[in-house]
Amino acid sequence: MSEPAVVTETLARVSVAGLDEILGVRLPVLDDGFVRLVDYMGSDESIVQAARVSYGSGTKRVSEDRALIRYLMRHHHSTPFEMCEIKLHVRVPMDCWRQWIRHRTASVNEYSTRYSLAIDNAQTTGASEWRRQTIANRQGSDELLDAEIGSYLSQREHQLTVLAREVYEERIAADVAREQARKDLPLSTYTEAYWKIDLHNLFHFLRLRMDSHAQDEIRQFATTIGHKIVAKWCPIAWDAFIDYHVESLELSKIERRVVSLLSDGNSDAAIAELESLGLLSRTATGFSRNRERIELEAKLRKLSIAIPWAE
Ligand SMILES: Cc1cc2nc3c(=O)[nH]c(=O)nc-3n(C[C@H](O)[C@H](O)[C@H](O)COP(=O)(O)OP(=O)(O)OC[C@H]3O[C@@H](n4cnc5c(N)ncnc54)[C@H](O)[C@@H]3O)c2cc1C
Repeated sequence: MSEPAVVTETLARVSVAGLDEILGVRLPVLDDGFVRLVDYMGSDESIVQAARVSYGSGTKRVSEDRALIRYLMRHHHSTPFEMCEIKLHVRVPMDCWRQWIRHRTASVNEYSTRYSLAIDNAQTTGASEWRRQTIANRQGSDELLDAEIGSYLSQREHQLTVLAREVYEERIAADVAREQARKDLPLSTYTEAYWKIDLHNLFHFLRLRMDSHAQDEIRQFATTIGHKIVAKWCPIAWDAFIDYHVESLELSKIERRVVSLLSDGNSDAAIAELESLGLLSRTATGFSRNRERIELEAKLRKLSIAIPWAE
């Protein structure tokens, strides 16, 4: 039999001490939710090991491992990251879970309310936690509502949750099937699931759900997974992910042109460019709202470039 093309070494199961310490520990999120690490496979080392199958065993030192992982992350060479997997047990309100479950690349088993009684707990919102509908888009929220109104809203929430649970339990007592009895439970009811995903797809989930555009509740879960689990599990890959995919700034072709013109002090040409593309149109009171331009303005602020049309 011929020798394998890839140099094989004596293998030991990879373990990460920092992660072993939190195995099985409930990391609290929201008022009664949690993320609990059930199991994991791989580490930064496994990413490097898989990549070396592609690139040969030339890079060995830790500094080179770091450079290799960063290279892979920068260039979207994703399969080495798929060599790491993680299994979590999560407890999440159903509205949040509905967003979470849209990520199709995980393996999931959810608590069944056809089979078992629905969890007797719903996520509550404190008087000072009600968020106002944002005017920036139709989806998000921004500043907080007055605590006085909030107090009324929290009280009504409590009444609704208590009533919904009473009705549910009445149906169960009347021998209604669990699958039907549950239909009027609020979306704030907690559910639980086992969720297993590889590191590449987990980074995709985290990029979308840790982002400021994601709903605050799911952001809290994503941030807990990212900062309290992934950062310990694969610290080099985590740093690279933050650098290249979270804290980085992506510029479109138009945006690059505008940045270049503004950096050259050519404000009039930058304005003319945006006007010609319909991104900047004057109204009697200023400029009409344009989402792409607003996003460009946010990027210019991050780059500390003055916005001439906003002056
Ligand atoms: C801020 C925000 C707002 C959102 N608003 C809405 C909304 O208003 N309405 C709504 O319905 N959804 C909304 N979503 C959900 C969103 O459209 C995605 O469904 C969700 O984020 C999952 O993303 P994904 O498909 O990339 O992830 P995953 O399902 O984890 O897939 C990862 C990647 O695998 C590939 N992939 C997986 N499955 C397939 C497939 N079947 N076919 C082709 N490629 C596949 C894709 O490249 C995909 O990007 C929102 C998400 C965010 C973050």
